[in-house]
Amino acid sequence: SLVLGIETSCDETSAAVVLNGTDVLSNIISSQMDVHRRFGGVVPEVASRRHVERMTLIIEEALTKANVDLSELDAIAVTQGPGLVGALLIGVAAAKALSFATSIPLIGVHHIAGHIYANHLVKPLQFPLVALVVSGGHTELIYMEKHNHFVHLGRTRDDAAGEAFDKVARLMGLPYPGGPQIDRLATQGSPSYDLPRAWLESDSLDFSFSGLKSSVMQLIQKAEGRNEKINEADLAASFQQAVLDVLVEKSIRAVKKAGVKQLLLAGGVSANSGLRVQLANRCEQERIDLRIPPLELCTDNAAMIAAAGTYLFYEGKFANLSLNADPNLSLIN
Ligand code: ATP
Ligand code: MG
Ligand code: FE
Repeated sequence: SLVLGIETSCDETSAAVVLNGTDVLSNIISSQMDVHRRFGGVVPEVASRRHVERMTLIIEEALTKANVDLSELDAIAVTQGPGLVGALLIGVAAAKALSFATSIPLIGVHHIAGHIYANHLVKPLQFPLVALVVSGGHTELIYMEKHNHFVHLGRTRDDAAGEAFDKVARLMGLPYPGGPQIDRLATQGSPSYDLPRAWLESDSLDFSFSGLKSSVMQLIQKAEGRNEKINEADLAASFQQAVLDVLVEKSIRAVKKAGVKQLLLAGGVSANSGLRVQLANRCEQERIDLRIPPLELCTDNAAMIAAAGTYLFYEGKFANLSLNADPNLSLIN
């Protein structure tokens, strides 16, 4: 099958063509990072306008690069949600227009399903499995028994992991997006500051990062009050380690509790070098088959949406022209 993927949930305009759910023929990503950086975060109205300007061009580029004609496509898969509603709408409108004009079936994809299926583009998923999804808006442990089936084992009760990275980076005066900045700084420091880990109830697979963020803020304010200088690299390393300790430990617990052999890492924070190394080490000790997407598939892209959409296509789960963007779309159906 040939599936065109379209992704506009946040600040990446992306279109991709994927063959049989596994082979990326093209994956064009136009990032707006430079536009939003000076505002210190994504400005929804600006993001929507950018998507409008780029969408058609990016789709054409994806088809051209894949050497595929519109008429050859079996389905058009688009991110339906969650995300910024104005941004999602641009992709959904483009997909609907294309589907209407060509009669090619339309498929609505959950953005987080996409992040999980990024791993499928490297090597087919092996069920049952557990996925740790860590992104700008999500931190969840998900159990999958088969394609298109998602069960929550745990989730964040407040901030998402990526959100925590971005907020702490902001407190430290680092540019947006903060995750990669903290990652880079952390490699130059050591985790010498004492910061809390939120383990929650002993059997809980949920997460909480807002207390950690507050502790970092207090630490910075205290130092400023005493006119002491903070070692930025050490603070970055300390914060990152506090996040990673909980992410790694709870992922291993989830895998054991679910009795599976495979753990997938997904979402933008899977680009974190510390997380990749520490999770890999731990999984090797525990003999868990860990899958981590290559860096270019960690953050938002349309190939992962096309991959997830392909399995909805195989099950005949089509949308119609009443498909609407849903900023709060649930992964569990
Ligand atoms: P969601 O997928 O939940 O809708 P999103 O699409 O905005 O949110 P992604 O694009 O998947 O999120 O990931 C972006 C997030 O990943 C940002 O919070 C960013 O700081 C974080 N991130 C990217 N690279 C790194 C890194 N190396 N270390 C830590 N965090 C990182
Ligand atoms: Mg993004
Ligand atoms: Fe994302």
